[in-house]
Amino acid sequence: MIKQNVKIHGDTPSIWFIFSAEKLLVPHAQPGPIIDTWNNLGFAHAYLDQVVQVGEHKGQTCYLVDMGNEQVVQEGMQLAHLRTLLQHDELEVFAVAARAWQVALFLRTHRFCGQCGSTMQKIDWEMAMHCHRCHHRCYPRISPCIIVAIRHEDKILLAQGKPQKERNMFSTLAGFVESGETLEQAVHREVFEEVGVAVKNLRYISSQPWPFPHSLMVGFLADLDCGEIKVDGHEIIEAHWFKYDELPNIPPKFSIAGQLIEQTIKEITQTKN
Ligand SMILES: [Zn+2]
Repeated sequence: MIKQNVKIHGDTPSIWFIFSAEKLLVPHAQPGPIIDTWNNLGFAHAYLDQVVQVGEHKGQTCYLVDMGNEQVVQEGMQLAHLRTLLQHDELEVFAVAARAWQVALFLRTHRFCGQCGSTMQKIDWEMAMHCHRCHHRCYPRISPCIIVAIRHEDKILLAQGKPQKERNMFSTLAGFVESGETLEQAVHREVFEEVGVAVKNLRYISSQPWPFPHSLMVGFLADLDCGEIKVDGHEIIEAHWFKYDELPNIPPKFSIAGQLIEQTIKEITQTKN
């Protein structure tokens, strides 16, 4: 168990994230702000040894309790996968829960030192696990991942991997950045590997943490330089150029993929006018 000194202020409202295995305790039914129901999870005080402070949300302290594989039963609440929060369209709520989940996962997977095998301890002044024997220190893992919307005249390149095919959806291309690689190199490499085309004129747009399990999506727009679409057949099964006003089923706007597509449509319509 991870022991540390957390001072819990009983009088001030706080937000509790209770994780059990891969799931989070959430209210049975909407409506009602999900945050309010999390406020009432003061019962988790009993697990003081396991409480970890994970930042703030609108002036309220966020606490995480990881129950491991222990089942949690709480009236009016159920255990659900983090992804279900995405259905409520409350990206802000999803973001704070996602942060808590990533910390929980980090603590779970760093109980022992990867260098000498000793038990690691959480340090108080920053989010890190430290080995007192060999002084190896670990921070929460963040995996940068590029995501890119490619434009050619009034068309956008959208692709389908297996997961998108199952959801009957086409999305932008994405892939993990490799060791020693710049973000720009990753974009050029991934695009060429997955669909066989070269791109130019890369523009950074925005980023989005994506906690499945610990990606940081770095979003770009790009233009086609040259080449014909030729899918790799592994990560990408299908890819096409879609006219901006005849798009297939695409990711929702709260996702960075949705935002990049939206931005590309905006640029196409602006050049048309
Ligand atoms: Zn060590």
